[in-house]
Amino acid sequence: MFDGLTGRLGDIFDRLRKRGALSEDDVNAALREVRIALLEADVALPAVKSFIQGVKEKAIGTEVLRGINPGQMVVKIVHDHLVELLGAQVEDLDLNAAPPIPILMLGLQGSGKTTTSAKIAVRLKKRDKKKVLLASLDTRRPAAQEQLRILGEQTGVASLPVIPGQQPVEIARRAMEVGRLEGYDVVILDTAGRLAIDEELMAEVVAIRDVARPVESLLVVDAMTGQDAVTVATNFNERVGITGIVMTRIDGDARGGAALSMRHVTGKPIKLMGMGEKTDALEPFHPDRIAGRILG
Ligand code: GDP
Repeated sequence: MFDGLTGRLGDIFDRLRKRGALSEDDVNAALREVRIALLEADVALPAVKSFIQGVKEKAIGTEVLRGINPGQMVVKIVHDHLVELLGAQVEDLDLNAAPPIPILMLGLQGSGKTTTSAKIAVRLKKRDKKKVLLASLDTRRPAAQEQLRILGEQTGVASLPVIPGQQPVEIARRAMEVGRLEGYDVVILDTAGRLAIDEELMAEVVAIRDVARPVESLLVVDAMTGQDAVTVATNFNERVGITGIVMTRIDGDARGGAALSMRHVTGKPIKLMGMGEKTDALEPFHPDRIAGRILG
């Protein structure tokens, strides 16, 4: 792991030929390479700057451990700091509330929101033996409600019957009502996607939130998202208030710098990651795996 960065830093330290504690010059030279690695992984600039500052404070004056070279020492400090920032503790979904527990799913169109809704339902059903109701509030994309119904059928999870013409806020209210009357533990509300941050849809989501009072509001973001991740995460967090992030398409070859950018701007944990198209391809977030990818 981190062959790219280790190699690059190894070259620098071969040139410097320093031993003992890491000097400021050593660290500065190494951090230039780290900065490039982060930018290449599409981490947003403010997050890169803050990260570099944090590593610098930790690294300068650190004794180089016996048996490793200064380059490897810096890589270790960088890696550990990255894992810490990404969230050293794995945070699971918060289900500490009276049923039915509403989970609100948010995100741009195509981020994997509907698939992730079904994945979470399957996980809660299988692992936690929860009775889950799926409800699509996406009345804009004609096939969206049907897509969720089919996913529910394939996985044996109930979905809220569609009433043609009903508006999203009304669907949310009905979903919670059915959740209460029929004894569901969890109600997953899949909101409409959007191509970009859109005022009308944001106002709609806020109205849905106020009706459903979600215990979890999860922002679903494709790992391929680059600099946009900051705008998306900031907007959803400021307008709706998110409780966590789900990163999808970790099975692809994205470097996943968006994870660090989003942590930086929202401070909210990345709770889960999507590892494929199948409904069981969902895992707890592994900061060390993403750290490895970001460092390259
Ligand atoms: P939505 O518009 O946000 O609801 O997105 P969808 O759930 O419809 O997903 C869009 C596409 O991405 C679908 O083809 C999904 O199968 C696919 N997808 C979702 N999550 C993942 C994932 O973790 N990995 C991969 N490879 N594909 C995914």
